[in-house]
Amino acid sequence: MSGGAPDGPRPGPAGGPGEDDLDPDVLEELEAWVDPDDDGPAPGDDDPVTGADGRDSGQGAVVLVGTPIGNLGDLSPRAAEALASARVVYCEDTRHSRRLLTHAGISGVPLRSLHEHNEEERIGEILAAVGRGERVAVVSDAGLPGISDPGGRVVAAAARAGATVTVVPGPSAALTALVVSGLPTDRFCFEGFLPRSGRGRRERLDVVGTESRTTVLFEAPGRVAGTLSDLVAVCGADRTVAVARELTKLHEEVWRGTLSDAVAWAGDRPVRGEVVLVVGGAPETAADTVSDDVLLAALADRRAPGERTRGVVDAVADAFGVPRRRVYQLALEGRAAGPEEEGGPSGSG
Ligand code: SAM
Repeated sequence: MSGGAPDGPRPGPAGGPGEDDLDPDVLEELEAWVDPDDDGPAPGDDDPVTGADGRDSGQGAVVLVGTPIGNLGDLSPRAAEALASARVVYCEDTRHSRRLLTHAGISGVPLRSLHEHNEEERIGEILAAVGRGERVAVVSDAGLPGISDPGGRVVAAAARAGATVTVVPGPSAALTALVVSGLPTDRFCFEGFLPRSGRGRRERLDVVGTESRTTVLFEAPGRVAGTLSDLVAVCGADRTVAVARELTKLHEEVWRGTLSDAVAWAGDRPVRGEVVLVVGGAPETAADTVSDDVLLAALADRRAPGERTRGVVDAVADAFGVPRRRVYQLALEGRAAGPEEEGGPSGSG
């Protein structure tokens, strides 16, 4: 799945002053802060990212490389070095990544496609290359590979095979949105893209509804309004949300407010560009302290002859204000509400 094409370099909201513009006192402070004795591996060291001496260091590795999420100025010097010194760069879209390499002044490095449909078949050749002592870079269209993007299966296979896997960190839309959202960052979870429809979507929405940590969600622009409405249904109208749009790009915008206001905001005009939704956590309620034993007893009490499990589960969930998913699971595990039936819990609240 593709992320946004880098639009930069632009001064934009993320653009900062150049070194020449910095206050000399700030520069002095920065110089004091950087430990002169520790500037990472030097040429000649066995640096798995760049190798000791260019492409043929003899130390094979899979090198995950973070790339910009919209502003080419965010490609780090170390990322450029890793790409320039790789034997081959695996990427989602070779034309897109060729533009990135060209922007960084890198030519002559072969690119090979690695996307969600061929990741599995690429694993063999990647491991073989690493086994020959080659450094293979893996990038996605934007951000960190493996975050709602290909890369995770290569890493798992390389790790299983005992190959060196390393990473040149870079921006990711998930963390970038989280830190700018203004919502609590001390505990958070990442739900990626919700399933588009059906029971899977209802169950994942249910999870967000009861999650007490801040939740980060990716969403396609055309689906933002619908997802905000679905979130109102499970989280309530007053839950806080931040809609982070076009981060690091010229039209960066972070809208903050309640979910019901967000629905109105999204409904006023088409939401354009790339979007991350950051949803505040559910307030801790008395329901969080209801024990499984209490719920099991309630299930047993309410079970009348001939009554369907689903009806009993709904009644108990409503009575205690706990998710249907939890009660249904207990009903299945404890068989307190009778024999298992098809269909699972109804609704998403
Ligand atoms: N691997 C990427 C990362 O680490 O950021 C994420 C790739 S995922 C396929 C693409 C989704 O990330 C988009 O649909 C959007 O939700 C989010 N995204 C990517 N770039 C963004 C940006 N500049 N501003 C807001 N959201 C962005």
